[in-house]
Amino acid sequence: MDAPEARFAAPPNALDAFWMPFTPNRAWKRDPRFVTQAQGMHYVAPDGRRILDAIAGLWCVNAGHCHPKIVEAVRAQAGQLDFASSFGLGHPAAFEYANCLTEAAPEGFNRVFFAGSGSEAVDTALKLALAFHAVQGQGQRTKLVGRQRSYHGVGFGGLSVAGIGSQRKHFGPLLPGVSHLPHTHDPRQNAFSRGRPEHGGEAFADALEGILYAQDPSTIAAVIVEPVAGSTGVLVPPQGYLERLRAICDRHVLLLIFDEVVTGFGRLGAAFGSQALGVMPDLICCAKGMTNGAVPMGGVLINDRVAEGLYSQPETTSEFMHGYTYSGHPLAAAAGLATLEVYQEEGLFQRAAETAPRWEAALHSLRDAQGVTDIRNIGLLGAIEFGSPAAAKAIAARCFDDGVLIRAVGEALVLSPPLAIEDSQIDQIVSTIRKCAGEV
Ligand code: PMP
Repeated sequence: MDAPEARFAAPPNALDAFWMPFTPNRAWKRDPRFVTQAQGMHYVAPDGRRILDAIAGLWCVNAGHCHPKIVEAVRAQAGQLDFASSFGLGHPAAFEYANCLTEAAPEGFNRVFFAGSGSEAVDTALKLALAFHAVQGQGQRTKLVGRQRSYHGVGFGGLSVAGIGSQRKHFGPLLPGVSHLPHTHDPRQNAFSRGRPEHGGEAFADALEGILYAQDPSTIAAVIVEPVAGSTGVLVPPQGYLERLRAICDRHVLLLIFDEVVTGFGRLGAAFGSQALGVMPDLICCAKGMTNGAVPMGGVLINDRVAEGLYSQPETTSEFMHGYTYSGHPLAAAAGLATLEVYQEEGLFQRAAETAPRWEAALHSLRDAQGVTDIRNIGLLGAIEFGSPAAAKAIAARCFDDGVLIRAVGEALVLSPPLAIEDSQIDQIVSTIRKCAGEV
């Protein structure tokens, strides 16, 4: 392989053309940061420095970077069958992967609809909910309920149910008929919680009753939440919250959708967050860890109730008028299959569960670090909160310079390392944060 420096001998203005997502492009391009290679737990910078990846790429590289088995599976598939549409034409990789994935999914989830990303998975799930009700003769159920401080990708559906006002700016009124639950983060009662916070779970969920009262429950199709809100700062729902949401949805015949794009594939110590947290939704959105980040892919796991509802239509119709050119893409399916095998062969979900107590103790040891105002954790997720977004951003930048990749979102540093993280690497993350917090 060329030396990374050689490959980045870029001509002037070479950074202009790529419009980077969710990035202040002009500022970033005055002070760019690159990685050029990755292996296992580390990225490699152009100057050869190894950087410990404390965020698994972007919540996705759960099995570590460039896993040989996944690399080989993608390589082999690319040489054998590069593309086939799944519109009325089959290829084996998608079926094999669907079988293995539904095997790993919670009981009663026996079908998967493939998409190309988390955003597509979310929009697919919202449309599945509307279609399910319509087929049941409940076509008036068109409204959706999301939650403040949730992130569901960037499609018009996902953006409508998400609860981040700053991301809606410029984009008009979005989907009609969407209400939002309050978010579940209350540092006054639950600061420095370990795992699921103690206080307020049922009360937060009961806000759904208020929405239903105001809206007429028979017009609502579904409620969508992240089991643990990831990209708005790892907001862990208090005990009893998800259970109560499930009960209210059941009482009013609403579908419950879990967006497990972050919590899927071992992050909480089980294949899916719903299994780790013991609450079952009707639809599960996934992406990211599906293919270990190696090839873009998303999907919706569909429980039998929803599937059978949609299959009650005449056999000659398409059960769900939806799909993407890349649904079940051969390379993604091959990567997904190999990824699932790696998770299973290496026992990575179990390993995450076993590492979680050590992770929790290490993060909470930062309680007395400079400027820390809150710490949250569950499974192999964590957030260290500082008094201001500027502080969090400056600390994250400094950590990168000190060899640890961490993301700042709002006032928090968020953490989600690959599941095979070792004790010494946890120590490195924590000592780097402590040092950089002291310096900023
Ligand atoms: N849902 C959740 C919970 C996510 O965290 C993300 C991405 N961070 C998405 C959806 C969107 O996924 P993608 O960026 O692959 O479209």
